[in-house]
Amino acid sequence: MASRRTRVGAVVAALTAGLLVVGGGVWAIAAAATRNADAVEARSTGTAHPAPVSSPSTALAATPTPVPTPSFDRGAYSIDDPASIWVVVNKSRALNPVDAVPPDLVQPPVPNINGQPVRKAVSDALAALFAAAKSEAGLDLTLQSGYRSYDTQVSVYDEDVAANGQVYADTDTARPGHSEHQTGLAVDISAASGRCSLDACFGQTDEGRWLAANAWRFGFLLRYPQDKVAVTGFTYEPWHFRYVGVPLATELHETGVTTLEEYFGVPGGESYPG
Ligand code: ZN
Repeated sequence: MASRRTRVGAVVAALTAGLLVVGGGVWAIAAAATRNADAVEARSTGTAHPAPVSSPSTALAATPTPVPTPSFDRGAYSIDDPASIWVVVNKSRALNPVDAVPPDLVQPPVPNINGQPVRKAVSDALAALFAAAKSEAGLDLTLQSGYRSYDTQVSVYDEDVAANGQVYADTDTARPGHSEHQTGLAVDISAASGRCSLDACFGQTDEGRWLAANAWRFGFLLRYPQDKVAVTGFTYEPWHFRYVGVPLATELHETGVTTLEEYFGVPGGESYPG
């Protein structure tokens, strides 16, 4: 064995030096056979030969290493910057600054009941989403709400408090600075028919079901799932979708994680701090 290992070493040296090219195919085959036999012997005895780390024999003997699955980079975008497509806003996490205004707001080229703009990337994704709903499932969708400014949210929240009291208002309307709609990345989507619009029963309509199953392909997340109220802090909203981009939406879909709070390990919950 010692002599064979020596011979292997010589072949390795020859290979390394590129000399074997002159020797031709026979040499190459013999060298390969020798290396493989040595490798099998090493494995069968369970003895780890102190082979040179970079030796070709080590490379040949090793079980092919699976290409490691590239782990998703959870730090690719900020979750704090209000202009980031990954910003996490909830009752525990206000936008900073609290009256932040998103960049690149545009009017999306889709039916738009309230006429509110959304960010450019969201607009493009919405157009694709609505087109796919029509072409794949024959469904007509309409945008109910998009961007709401800080001042608009003040009005919406104050009206809700006036009508229903603060305790109730805090379950279904975000306080100003805590609304995803202020990012320009959140959309409320309805069926063109208006059936179950902004109602939990939307989740049982053809449109609601199709969106729940397919929105991720276009970069959207069903942000307030029925079974995650304690995590997101908001009641089930099968119409509210949050744009996070296709890579993150796909990652969430594939991992089965349904909330941004759980995925990023940040606080959420049903109460406001303080
Ligand atoms: Zn919404």
